[in-house]
Amino acid sequence: MKSTSAATALREPISLVPRLKNQGYARDLVDRRRRWLEERSQQKLPHVGRFSIASEAWRGNIENPIGAAQVPLGIAGPLRVCGEHARGDVYVPLATTEGALVRSYERGMVAITRSGGATVRMEIDSNRISPVFPFEDVATASAFARRLPGWLEDLRRAAESTTRHGKLLRVTGLLLGREVIVDFEYHTADAQGMNMISVATDAACRWLVEHGGARSYAIFSGYNSEKRASGSLLRGGKGKTVVAGAEIPKVLTRAVLHATPEELVDLWHHTVLGHLRTGALGYNGHVANGLTAFFVATGQDVANVVNSSVAITNFELTPGGDLYASVTLPSLSVATVGGGTGLGTSRECLEMLGCFGAGGAPRLAEIIAATVLAGELSMGGAIASGEFVAAHDGLGRNRPEALS
Ligand code: NAP
Repeated sequence: MKSTSAATALREPISLVPRLKNQGYARDLVDRRRRWLEERSQQKLPHVGRFSIASEAWRGNIENPIGAAQVPLGIAGPLRVCGEHARGDVYVPLATTEGALVRSYERGMVAITRSGGATVRMEIDSNRISPVFPFEDVATASAFARRLPGWLEDLRRAAESTTRHGKLLRVTGLLLGREVIVDFEYHTADAQGMNMISVATDAACRWLVEHGGARSYAIFSGYNSEKRASGSLLRGGKGKTVVAGAEIPKVLTRAVLHATPEELVDLWHHTVLGHLRTGALGYNGHVANGLTAFFVATGQDVANVVNSSVAITNFELTPGGDLYASVTLPSLSVATVGGGTGLGTSRECLEMLGCFGAGGAPRLAEIIAATVLAGELSMGGAIASGEFVAAHDGLGRNRPEALS
């Protein structure tokens, strides 16, 4: 086997992808990079190369661009939302390749809308990042953690000097051996905020090194659960805490969801036990399905489905024998400004929902919570009535002919 010396390896370029003028976002440079790849891979990429969104706007969203991945977009609705920020009927864009998903969400929306709508409230609206500071011993680390509350105003000044919209709400120190994790919690207005608050927190951390006796820090400790699931997400504070609920009369559960309220509550009870047995974080039917399709359609960071889908669904019988269904999303991470929200198709979908830009994020969060509730109802109905397998077999199978 051919061995490469360390000196030779260091001289190798990091990437063989052509370095193009101004990082190559202009359309002709995107095409040139794709043609280079087509030659190298001996594979034509005509679909990848056919897109309408302006490649110059991709700076800050992607590197080495060669085109666009396309995902089919469907529409489900009307969905009646009775929130504080979203009121009225909306049609929800869902981008997916899972057959039966849009139809299923639509069925839940029919049940909700005919019952008068989903009541939605947003309770917490913040995002957090949690750097870690090492110390010589437990006593020094503990002294640092105890002094943190007294530094709040200084940390706020340092952090907020980097952002117009980010507001530092709280700082909490957590002693961990001879380290201190410092949990910074911000209001990030209509942005998801991770870029915003990592810059702001870096400034605050530098203040702690200069004035607070810290020696060094790592900006991420893993404690904030960005793009990973954890039990702490159930507490909220990593995104928006949004709750949606609807009372569905028994006549509608039977007609639309094909199951009685008792059958739905019974199913809920069985599956709660299944979740407990497996040690699940949260309890829900398929919150990740609706979130992913919604996130792709509206330009959210899709990896945030991991933390956003730690959620709790509840089905209960009312005294009158109807169904009360609710979903609680403690840590929903969404935006109407920044990230991918301004790119062509994402912007169109957000505008269609009346959510694009400044002031739109709370409305978007409420619409998403009502959408997710619709999905939970429909999935419950499909399983309780025994129709789940047939529905997926009928709507969601793609048996390819033998590939040549
Ligand atoms: P961004 O696109 O980096 O920045 C958005 C900026 O928009 C804000 O910083 C803010 O500027 C400005 N803005 C204008 N109007 C606003 C309004 N009404 N509300 C809020 N902000 C407004 O987006 P981001 O939300 O900070 O970061 C999200 C992106 O970070 C996602 O695409 C995600 O993929 C990525 N990400 C980053 C990290 C990380 O650690 N850096 C981790 C995970 C994901 P001002 O700050 O000046 O107010």
